[in-house]
Amino acid sequence: MDTDCIFCKIVAGKMPSSKIYEDSHTIAVLDIFPACPGHTLVIPRDHHADLFDTPAATLAHVARASKKVAHRLQEALGIDSVNIINNSGANAGQVVFHLHFHVVPRSGGDGLDFKLNRVKADAKYLEEMSSRLKF
Ligand code: 5GP
Ligand code: ZN
Repeated sequence: MDTDCIFCKIVAGKMPSSKIYEDSHTIAVLDIFPACPGHTLVIPRDHHADLFDTPAATLAHVARASKKVAHRLQEALGIDSVNIINNSGANAGQVVFHLHFHVVPRSGGDGLDFKLNRVKADAKYLEEMSSRLKF
């Protein structure tokens, strides 16, 4: 546990939260600044700052719990769509440096927009970038 971390405090029950799910590896709590009703955070019990620091096995637990939460939101709120978001690093918008997945229920006309501004790639870019990145 990181004593300065608010999510570690929530996991330890030292800070209040609206918990909707827990298992031996994760908890899921309502976000206190919800993007929409039902916006939930899935948090591993162990402290890891972000995606880069988190062991694959822990990520698998978080992914599994996120799927459970998504189904619960579907069942309880009647939604048919969901965004799973992870911000890793300050430049990606991360504010709380204890890895978590946002599970955001989506419905028609909810006014949310997570689309990125993109333009179609040309062949040169795809060739050069894939040769830089492939491993
Ligand atoms: P990030 O930008 O790090 O991915 O998102 C952190 C999220 O944690 C934000 O959506 C924010 O609203 C939420 N949050 C911050 N403090 C608390 C808290 O004390 N309790 C809960 N439940 N959520 C929090
Ligand atoms: Zn923590």
